[in-house]
Amino acid sequence: MDFNYTDTQVQIAEMIRDFANKNIRPQMMEWDENQKFPVDLFRKMGELGLMGVLVPTEYGGSGLSYFEYVTVVSEIAKVCGSIGLSVAAHNSLCTGHILYFGNEEQKKKYLPKLATGEWIGAWGLTEANTGSDAGNMRCVATKEGDEWVLNGTKNWITHGISGDAAVVLARTGEPRAKSNITAFVVDRGTPGFSAGKKENKLGMRASETAELVFDNCRISDAQRLGEVGDGFRQAMKVLDGGRISIAALSLGIAKGAYEASIKYAKERYQFDQPIANFQAISFKLADMATKIEASELLIYQAADLKNRNEKMTKESAMAKYYASEVAVQVSTDAVQIFGGYGYTKDFPVEKFYRDSKLCTIGEGTSEIQKLVISRSVLQQ
Ligand SMILES: Cc1cc2nc3c(=O)[nH]c(=O)nc-3n(C[C@H](O)[C@H](O)[C@H](O)COP(=O)(O)OP(=O)(O)OC[C@H]3O[C@@H](n4cnc5c(N)ncnc54)[C@H](O)[C@@H]3O)c2cc1C
Repeated sequence: MDFNYTDTQVQIAEMIRDFANKNIRPQMMEWDENQKFPVDLFRKMGELGLMGVLVPTEYGGSGLSYFEYVTVVSEIAKVCGSIGLSVAAHNSLCTGHILYFGNEEQKKKYLPKLATGEWIGAWGLTEANTGSDAGNMRCVATKEGDEWVLNGTKNWITHGISGDAAVVLARTGEPRAKSNITAFVVDRGTPGFSAGKKENKLGMRASETAELVFDNCRISDAQRLGEVGDGFRQAMKVLDGGRISIAALSLGIAKGAYEASIKYAKERYQFDQPIANFQAISFKLADMATKIEASELLIYQAADLKNRNEKMTKESAMAKYYASEVAVQVSTDAVQIFGGYGYTKDFPVEKFYRDSKLCTIGEGTSEIQKLVISRSVLQQ
């Protein structure tokens, strides 16, 4: 087993550090304060190959593996969780769904635009009344001749306003029936498709979260992704990969909070010595370091299985569950190490603390990850 980062990972990490220092760090608190989703930044990241990390080069992507993808998301999140979340959602959800389940024509139409950042992608599964119980959705697609008519609302959708294309999961059968959900891709500007309310969030404020509204939205059958009734299975497969990216997002947030804490603990003097000398502080740092390394091992285990196309539902759920809880614990401890300064927006840990909480909720809560893991270990 080789625990070293690949040369490509090391180069990507250096490139992102440089890019983030110039293009993200100086403005991120303003974006956070104003809930501004910086669309132009994503076009620039597209030019660097960060918007289609897993997309094969023949479709305009970077053609890299999950190892490099983990590096991309975690290095961005070390600086700003919001930008990390948007990169993860764009790559894994909308782009990933079309990559895995689109036909050749759909891949040729959408992937080059998404992978280069020309288009931003959205992915709509969740609704107001169906989050964890996503299969119980109300958004319906009805077949009329060669067309489908979409009606309903999707909530909490990353890039719900700015997304140029949205993959949408809609019910095409009776409620609670088997195989009753189908996936479609809908372009922005299609009559009957609009954005609704934008959420005002605790954290991840520069990542746009909004409703998708479908009101007699007519799309051709060519916009259907895969077979009728296969949507829920597709969504679960997309989420298996997506959870690795939320785990990577969590890892980046935890590392960012930890590195800031190490620096501060050495610089901050109380009782005529650095606070790092107090065991209460140094043991916190020891716990942080251990949990971060354990997260990283779980993430690379899941990424390795995914790279080899092996089943990894349990492993990606474990990585997402553990790494997200660690991100919250580490950023909470980081605020404590910074004392009163940690409670202000002048220091970075306040933002890590707010951003981290999303990681235990999005793409399946910690409770749902435990459901997935327990079903697997009990072979239910
Ligand atoms: C910033 C942000 C971005 C998002 N982006 C997207 C996106 O791009 N696309 C998308 O489709 N969705 C997105 N979501 C939605 C997200 O995936 C859901 O919020 C999440 O799945 C939880 O659903 P819920 O909020 O309805 O909570 P609920 O399902 O109502 O859960 C409430 C509580 O009950 C618990 N619970 C529910 N069922 C069970 C059970 N069976 N056993 C034990 N506990 C249970 C949950 O763990 C949670 O603690 C986003 C959410 C946020 C906050």
